[in-house]
Amino acid sequence: VKRVYTFGNGKAEGKADMKNLLGGKGANLAEMNLIGVPVPPGFTITTDVCTEYNEKGKDAVVELLKSDVEAAIKNIESLTETSFGDKTNPLLVSVRSGARASMPGMMDTVLNLGLNDDSVIGIAAKSGNERFAWDSYRRFVQMYGDVVLGMKPESKEEIDPFERIMEDVKERKGVDLDTDLDVDDLKELVTLFKAAVKEQTGHDFPESAWEQLWGAVMAVFDSWNNDRAILYRRMEGIPDEWGTAVNVQAMVFGNMGDNSATGVAFTRDAATGENVFNGEYLINAQGEDVVAGIRTPQQITKDGSLKWADLQGVLEEDRVDMYPSLEEAMPDVYKQLNEVQQKLESHYKDMQDLEFTVQDGKLWLLQTRNGKRTGAAMVKIAMDLYREKVIDDKMTLMRIEPNKLDELLHPVFDLEAIGSAKELAKGLPASPGAASGQIIFFADEATKYPETILVRIETSPEDLEGMLVAKGILTARGGMTSHAAVVARGMGKCCVSGAGALKIDYKERTLRIDGNVYKEGDWISLNGSTGKVYDGRVKTRQPDLDGDFGQIMDFASKYTRMSVRTNADTPKDAVVAREFGAQGIGLCRTEHMFFEGERIKTVREMILSSDEDGRRTALNKLLPYQRGDFEGILEAMEGYGVTIRLLDPPLHEFVPHTEAAQQEMAKEMGISLAEVKTKVSDLSEFNPMLGHRGCRLGNTYPEITEMQARAIIEAALNLKARGIITKPEIMVPLIGTVEELKMQAEIIHTTAELIFKEKGEKVEYLVGTMIEIPRAALTADLVAGIADFFSFGTNDLTQMTFGYSRDDANKFLPIYLEKGILKNDPFQILDQTGVGQLVEMGTQKGRSVKPELKVGICGEHGGEPSSVEFCDSVGMNYVSCSPFRVPIARVAAAQANI
Ligand code: ADP
Ligand code: MG
Ligand code: MG
Repeated sequence: VKRVYTFGNGKAEGKADMKNLLGGKGANLAEMNLIGVPVPPGFTITTDVCTEYNEKGKDAVVELLKSDVEAAIKNIESLTETSFGDKTNPLLVSVRSGARASMPGMMDTVLNLGLNDDSVIGIAAKSGNERFAWDSYRRFVQMYGDVVLGMKPESKEEIDPFERIMEDVKERKGVDLDTDLDVDDLKELVTLFKAAVKEQTGHDFPESAWEQLWGAVMAVFDSWNNDRAILYRRMEGIPDEWGTAVNVQAMVFGNMGDNSATGVAFTRDAATGENVFNGEYLINAQGEDVVAGIRTPQQITKDGSLKWADLQGVLEEDRVDMYPSLEEAMPDVYKQLNEVQQKLESHYKDMQDLEFTVQDGKLWLLQTRNGKRTGAAMVKIAMDLYREKVIDDKMTLMRIEPNKLDELLHPVFDLEAIGSAKELAKGLPASPGAASGQIIFFADEATKYPETILVRIETSPEDLEGMLVAKGILTARGGMTSHAAVVARGMGKCCVSGAGALKIDYKERTLRIDGNVYKEGDWISLNGSTGKVYDGRVKTRQPDLDGDFGQIMDFASKYTRMSVRTNADTPKDAVVAREFGAQGIGLCRTEHMFFEGERIKTVREMILSSDEDGRRTALNKLLPYQRGDFEGILEAMEGYGVTIRLLDPPLHEFVPHTEAAQQEMAKEMGISLAEVKTKVSDLSEFNPMLGHRGCRLGNTYPEITEMQARAIIEAALNLKARGIITKPEIMVPLIGTVEELKMQAEIIHTTAELIFKEKGEKVEYLVGTMIEIPRAALTADLVAGIADFFSFGTNDLTQMTFGYSRDDANKFLPIYLEKGILKNDPFQILDQTGVGQLVEMGTQKGRSVKPELKVGICGEHGGEPSSVEFCDSVGMNYVSCSPFRVPIARVAAAQANI
């Protein structure tokens, strides 16, 4: 097997479509070489080796790699005319992680590897720049110590030992910035850093370049399993087995002086999707300096710089002096970079996120990838590329990550409310959206209040989990490419970064803005689209959904085979879902109607009655309410199928449980409190979810089914009289045997015939069933003899197939997920291996006796993209989901069919 792939000087053994083997970074480094983009030479160790490493350990893997890596290093040496481990003309390399899917900043990288006490002098002499040599060396010792020697503290409270030394030295010298340290300071830093290594690890810092290299390669493999990376994978659904590749690459130096720089850039705006080249850079800097927010980064383009100055309130004169754009500071390099970005975007046909370094006036590209973006940017970029004829409509649709559409459906600030809100500060519009919440200062306290805004000087990868929970993120430092900004955009979370006016005191837990003090728990609002911060809680409204979003939905309709329905219990929900493009209702839960207003009393009267007569009296009172509800919902879905489920939950859920309510009930019904109490306790069950519920109610109390069937049929007839066409589908819940369905169907048909005779008028209706008990799926061929349609109730089907109580699963599911016993929460993502078999078998068996059998799904899974794809593959007619997931399901359904 080939374990090492080289690249450099316009040649490469890999290419872009080898991401699985080479990781995204490695595959693209190879591809950039092939298309003539300047990239420092190097090689990639495959992701398969990461798996070998996890199985066999370090020594075995070094043995497997040794000769290939030595040859690959030779290749770099000859291309760069340097020599690895040499004193006078050393080759320095970076050792970089890189998985199949991009996991920005989650794994480790070591720069300037190959330096030691001798070669630093060689580098200084060769470059004629002593400061640069020692700056690189101190960076290397720190990175190697943190990453390879494990000196980075595990807990957030502890400061990195090297940071502490650095702060001490800076304080002693009275300087603020790293760039203000002189050669002697840097030499002192190296000495202190090494002493810290010796003290903490008991070993001297390794001087041998080869020892350094193998250490770093293994550390990168190890970083695949660090906490951050694991959490990120879980969030993004990246499998643990993939592993990371390792890229070893000749260093180029952005820290060689004022003619050197490093930066990141996006070919389009990752927040809004606008087609403007943008990014940030720092002169005389290296690696992650830009992202880490150590100094205020400068803009790539002149326009960007003007806009930035405006947002930050920096005077234009100052902007040019202190923060010139790359376009102004290094016009030739800018011109080249601009050509490269255009080349890369048209090559990859998608927005690119680039990393580059300028060494002494020469431009080098270090990375390109499809850029992370917000939901809004995702839609705009896809549609712009479509209009530019770069991609076709199918490809446009495939560019949509269905779940990300959710962001576009969220509220935006009400224009009037925002106009009169008190503006506190201005930062950068790092990630759009509207967020209000109570201030917290520590990510691990994100759940302290129901809605929180995380306020930080800057964020770090450790804050990931808290960022996920908070409604919005506000930072005092850092630019558009800072950690907070990049991560927030990836999550679609509202973020304002670099609001310089904020004075944050973590100890006091306060935020000072122009003399006003805000404490933990105070309400603020963020507008991530303008970068403005407001006092208090600002009112929001629903967004407009036309334009590009509408176009995407049209493409979805064009390519979908299944239709998408919604789960809705009220006409209001039905209307919302219709606006999102729902074609019918897949689940209308009638019991929700029983709780509205005064009705619950009548429902209780029905339940507590001791005989059929009493129940019928109460049901007669309920009939007009139910009929009215059904009229409303059938009218809202005019022309489309509406699946109405008969009463499902255990009756116990409806009865009063407090003494006062029971007293009232007794009075109302003219019986004693004791009688009410007895009735209530009679109804209580050991295991109500498997007890007297679903069709078992309708089969023991047929009058309930009769009333509901009457309400539905009469509603349809009333609407027909008004010229409104309806398609009611009456659904019997929780059957396990065909006889249960047969009895319910008989009641429904008899009732319908009776009404048709009474009114001398007919309507079309269907009678079908939910398939949610495994036995129903197993005997689906029998059930289909009676049913006009099946609707897979995958919530209950999952519960019963796994034997996990939905209401108690929170006690063990999180642990199962953490331990890897389960890959996903089966209540969120349909378990295709197990539950999916029942769905597939049920569909096939049902259609074997009734080929035209209509089949759909109405569990939560109907709005989850991977489950929707599965539903398409088993040949369902439709999926049904909550109104706000309808657009997501529509895109997922179309993608499944492309
Ligand atoms: P991540 O995956 O976290 O972005 P990278 O492997 O991209 O980590 O490395 C981080 C940064 O280190 C890069 O953006 C780049 O600035 C710098 N870097 C990596 N390799 C080199 C190199 N060969 N020469 C100069 N800088 C490098
Ligand atoms: Mg990178
Ligand atoms: Mg159910």
